[in-house]
Parts: sequence; structure tokens; C-alpha cells
Amino acid sequence: MINERDFPKGMLFSLILAALFFLNGCSGEDRDDSEAIPEALALDIPALYSTVDTITVLVAYVPGAEPFTGMIHRDIACWSVLESNIEALFEGRVLEPDVHVPSMLSEMERIPPQEQDTWTSEAIMGLAMDIWDAQPSSFEAEFFVLFLKGRFESEDGPDNRIIGVSIVGTPVIAIFKDTVLSSSSIPQVARFVEQATLVHEFGHVMGLVNNGVPMVSDHLDPEHPRHCTNNQCVMYWVNEGTSDMAEFVRRMIDSDSLVMFSEECLEDTRSYLP
Ligand SMILES: [Zn+2]
Ligand SMILES: [Zn+2]
Repeated sequence: MINERDFPKGMLFSLILAALFFLNGCSGEDRDDSEAIPEALALDIPALYSTVDTITVLVAYVPGAEPFTGMIHRDIACWSVLESNIEALFEGRVLEPDVHVPSMLSEMERIPPQEQDTWTSEAIMGLAMDIWDAQPSSFEAEFFVLFLKGRFESEDGPDNRIIGVSIVGTPVIAIFKDTVLSSSSIPQVARFVEQATLVHEFGHVMGLVNNGVPMVSDHLDPEHPRHCTNNQCVMYWVNEGTSDMAEFVRRMIDSDSLVMFSEECLEDTRSYLP
């Protein structure tokens, strides 16, 4: 359990700023429709919520972009945040898949340095296909997470605010470590930002919001596709006011649960019948 009092004075404020930064930093990238997703890297969302009984998260990193590991707070391991949130999406379903998330660097793949400072979604997909030999299966789902140096490059050019990207229609996610590190000089906060970004991007690739999994209630932000209208949800696109954000972070810290998704989002995935 995380209690607010466990954080040093000033920590909560820093967390708020960091979380604000992180929530600005999502990019769910639509690929050009004319460019088909390779079959091996197409994500079958109906299968994910019907026949899949094992979910495995594979992580690779370039030197200097090592994911945070170890504890995020007291006895809570960093990567248990992502694991808990993936499990939460399936809680109460007839089939609750076994979720395998690495927790130590030795369980993640170190890849050679990449000679590029900016990453388009095409370049991210290309690297993922070089590293992993995806074997699509109706029973096992694999998700691929790349930790990279450099910045994401959108159609508008390099964007140093983007921490994480999910490639729509695929199980591929990229995290930009330089942006994570610049989000806060407090290591514990940067750890929180990294895991929360992973949870947000996993939410997208696993069908949220209205991105493959239909909504039970209307909580799609009309201005921001694939994002939740609930400003206390990790799938909210950005938090407008610091009081709302304070509440979001306080809920995270006070709660017994590490789950960052709002009830609306959880209701969608838990009741989805493909
Ligand atoms: Zn997003
Ligand atoms: Zn939500």
C-alpha cells in the first residue's frame, strides 16, 4: 500500500507535475491505411478477449535506455504496475489470461545502439520486426516494447514531449527514455511516469477507448480519439487543471490498488464479448 505520508514533503507536487507531463506525452499513431500492417504484427483483439490464455510482454532496450527495474515504492516492484493493470482489464472474465511481464533487466533484451535520433512509427515497426520473430497465435498474445534513445517523430516533426507511442493495430509500443528521464529529476517520479506511460499505451493496443473494444457507456473524448472522458483515468488525454490532476495522483497513492484505469474503461474490457 502506498500512503501519501510515505512521500517526502514536496513529492506529491512533483508527482503532479510529472503526471501532467506524462499525460501530455502520448501518441497513438495511426499508420497510413495504404501501408498494410504485416500479418505477423497485426493484433487480433477479438482473439485477445476470447481465446488467448497467455499474455507475454517482451521488452528490448538500447544501451542508455534501460528500463527502470527494482522497486517503484517500498515493496512494490516497478513492473508489477504494468502487470496489475493488464490483469485488471481481464478481471472477472470467463478467461483470465496468465500475464507474464519481465521484472529484471536480465529478462529483457539488450540490442545494439541504433544510429538515429528520431523515430517515425515506420522505423519503430521496422526495428520491432528485426528483433522479434512474431508468431501469431489464437492462444498466446505477445506484446513488444522498445526502449529507445532519441525522440518520436510525428508528421509535424520531432516531438520531445512524447514519452510513449503505440502503433495502432499492432502489439508494438515504444518508450522514449530521454523523455522519461527529463520528466523529473526525482528517480521515484520518473519510475512512476515510465510505468504509467506503459499502462496508457497498453490501454490503447488492448482496444481502449473504442479502439477495437466497444464502449459499454459513452466515455470517448470526441476531441481526442481513443481517449477517455474521465479525467481520473489513465486513458484521459491530458489533465486541464492541477486540482483534477492532484486528485488523479492522490488516488494512485492512497489506493490499495495499482489500477489506473477508470471503471468505464474496465467495464468495456471486462464485459466485451467478441
Ligand atoms: Zn493516448
Ligand atoms: Zn477511462
